[in-house]
Amino acid sequence: AKQVINATGVWTDETQAMVGERGQYKVRASKGVHLVVPRDRIQSSTGMILRTEKSVLFVIPWGRHWIVGTTDTGWDLDKAHPAASTNDIDYILEHVNKVLVTPLTSADVEGVYAGLRPLLAGESDETSKLSREHLVAHAAPGLVVVAGGKYTTYRVMAKDAVDAVTHALDDNFGKCVTERVPCVGAEGYEAAWNRRQVIADESGLHVARIEHLLIRYGTLIDEVLDIVREQPDLGQPLEGAEDYLQVEIAYACSHEGARHLDDVFARRTHISIEMWDRGVTAAPHAAAIMGRVLGWSEDQVRKEVDHYLKRVEAERLSQQQPDDETADSARLGAPEIVPLA
Ligand SMILES: Cc1cc2nc3c(=O)[nH]c(=O)nc-3n(C[C@H](O)[C@H](O)[C@H](O)COP(=O)(O)OP(=O)(O)OC[C@H]3O[C@@H](n4cnc5c(N)ncnc54)[C@H](O)[C@@H]3O)c2cc1C
Repeated sequence: AKQVINATGVWTDETQAMVGERGQYKVRASKGVHLVVPRDRIQSSTGMILRTEKSVLFVIPWGRHWIVGTTDTGWDLDKAHPAASTNDIDYILEHVNKVLVTPLTSADVEGVYAGLRPLLAGESDETSKLSREHLVAHAAPGLVVVAGGKYTTYRVMAKDAVDAVTHALDDNFGKCVTERVPCVGAEGYEAAWNRRQVIADESGLHVARIEHLLIRYGTLIDEVLDIVREQPDLGQPLEGAEDYLQVEIAYACSHEGARHLDDVFARRTHISIEMWDRGVTAAPHAAAIMGRVLGWSEDQVRKEVDHYLKRVEAERLSQQQPDDETADSARLGAPEIVPLA
């Protein structure tokens, strides 16, 4: 390639070091933890934004759940698996409970997840004071780096990075059109939503299932329903995670590039944080579906399930530890890679 874009988030310092870049700027990781609680635990008809001493706390309605978060603390430990500690969980509960009539306890928490924000490092030690802006630089000939930023500014980030690339190439490129390009599945969405009862009648699925699929896939629902037409069994709910249809597991493998069970449960669906058992019951059923799409042997199916159960165990253990160091070392107890059968 003539030009490469480095967009590696919290790993930017490491990937820039690979090309011997002197480090014009640094990226710091800031850990943010969210809790998932059932909808009936908070009696409110709207979401809430609360001020905390450091930043803000969101209470967001989300399907059958509420998402409550977040924290904002520096993280220098394992970047691949940021771990939530009891410290983080207690901090969130303490703050949200200030405005709730019936306080939440850790027994109300269905799921916990942690992520890392890539922040451009500045003068302050406190991550909540660091900039949320992004930066694009031609760090070395043929290498553009984009770092920092926010989800909500992803189109601007992408435009700035691609503009930096096209600027360096001799070819004549048209002007960026990203602000007029709809998201995947967005084209025709409103009309599809209006037709949801018709789609339900044609597919034989309940209209509530069609609404769920439209919300998740937009007009790509056609691809999902094509699979159900060919394999009607996949139109059944997934045992142990009945909010989802079995076809969603198959589709994650056939159309979304998923290769492992933990990827399907943590990213392609939200099963790992929406189910009280974190997907333990659903794991063997989902792995069997994945195995049929990806051609796994029975032994490989078993290894995938075993790997996922160890991950859940390590996450639960880490969330019972008091601080970052102990939570990190508990989380590292689970193997990183699923062995090949
Ligand atoms: C708790 C939390 C709250 C947030 N709140 C908000 C908010 O309110 N509003 C908002 O707009 N945004 C929010 N964000 C979004 C966030 O701040 C960032 O915008 C976003 O996470 C960064 O995306 P990214 O693509 O730059 O990095 P990432 O999503 O981290 O992507 C980097 C990718 O690079 C890959 N990678 C690393 N090294 C290599 C390598 N050597 N080779 C190949 N690939 C590699 C990684 O696997 C990863 O997939 C929040 C994030 C968190 C964690």
